[in-house]
Amino acid sequence: MMSEHTYEITVIGGGPVGMFAAFYAGLRSADVLLVESLSALGGQTGNLYPAKILYDIGGMPGISGQGLVDHLKEQVAHFKPTVQLSTAVTAITPTEDGFTLTTTREPIHTKAVIIATGGGAFTPRRLAIDYDPALDGSSVLYYVTNLEDFRDLDVAIAGGGDSAIDWALALEPIAHSVHLIHRRNQFRGLESSVADLKASTVALHTPYLIDAVNQNDARLDIGLKEVRGDATERLDVDRLLVNYGFMSDNKQLRNWGLELDGNAIAVDSQMATSIPGIFAIGDVASYPGKLKLIASGFGEAPTAVAAALARLYPERKQALHSTQLYH
Ligand SMILES: Cc1cc2nc3c(=O)[nH]c(=O)nc-3n(C[C@H](O)[C@H](O)[C@H](O)COP(=O)(O)OP(=O)(O)OC[C@H]3O[C@@H](n4cnc5c(N)ncnc54)[C@H](O)[C@@H]3O)c2cc1C
Repeated sequence: MMSEHTYEITVIGGGPVGMFAAFYAGLRSADVLLVESLSALGGQTGNLYPAKILYDIGGMPGISGQGLVDHLKEQVAHFKPTVQLSTAVTAITPTEDGFTLTTTREPIHTKAVIIATGGGAFTPRRLAIDYDPALDGSSVLYYVTNLEDFRDLDVAIAGGGDSAIDWALALEPIAHSVHLIHRRNQFRGLESSVADLKASTVALHTPYLIDAVNQNDARLDIGLKEVRGDATERLDVDRLLVNYGFMSDNKQLRNWGLELDGNAIAVDSQMATSIPGIFAIGDVASYPGKLKLIASGFGEAPTAVAAALARLYPERKQALHSTQLYH
């Protein structure tokens, strides 16, 4: 029974960094459990920007968020770790030989813990107007999972940050038309992206706010109102993609008794937290010079796994290179 079993390492959080840690723990022959609160692995990368192209992953000149998650899934599956989805860890209690994790399901017993909970549970910032909630997920969208879903459609995008601009540029060659609605005349994206945007066929509606969204047959009727002005516009489109950013909730961390640094967990150079046997990696870990990047997290994962195993089995000689173990 799962509740009787004691894992050697439990990784909390199935984002890119937690997935790589679970793989690396398997590579080191550890009995590992990967726990993820959402119903799918992938973290921010798989859920918030699956179609964005990442250029800063070592060895990958350009890969989509979903592509990276698919590679990680394949990699992590190699050593067949136990993966438990739709399970949020709510408390960590030290025991004689490790920890008991209280979860939204059965408790988990483990000798060591690697926390890779990133920015915590995240939710998109919603449109601040009343509209029919039944439109959510059909015509009003907060995530893009597949660019092809927008082929030949008229698409309005709300937002003025990097991600809204990325979507507008990515959809321009696919959609029939793309409209970008932003409450300021200036966009907050990278200079090169803003220049590409201005040179594109994307119709810019600035400085406008959305003040109504109604279904009109299978289309959407969007009302726009000028910010600090009286002008109004109407857009008739197939889809509205809202890109106002995301809110993340890491409040639970405060109950785990760990030393924090702001909203993150303070770690040393071995990724060890203030509680022996609990390590933290990825976006949730903080140390001087920390960069919240996937590449940084990929480096932190082997350090944490090696430190966890060295603590559990001080007599074991540490293997360093995957060629020695990977068949
Ligand atoms: C729009 C956007 C673009 C980005 N672009 C880049 C880029 O180009 N290059 C780059 O390197 N980085 C980029 N990043 C940052 C990158 O996504 C993060 O650094 C990375 O996702 C961190 O990975 P992680 O595994 O630490 O955390 P996350 O990806 O946040 O994953 C954490 C996981 O833990 C789960 N979780 C949280 N709490 C619990 C709990 N209590 N129990 C169980 N599970 C839990 C969450 O559901 C989530 O799946 C971008 C981020 C955003 C938002």
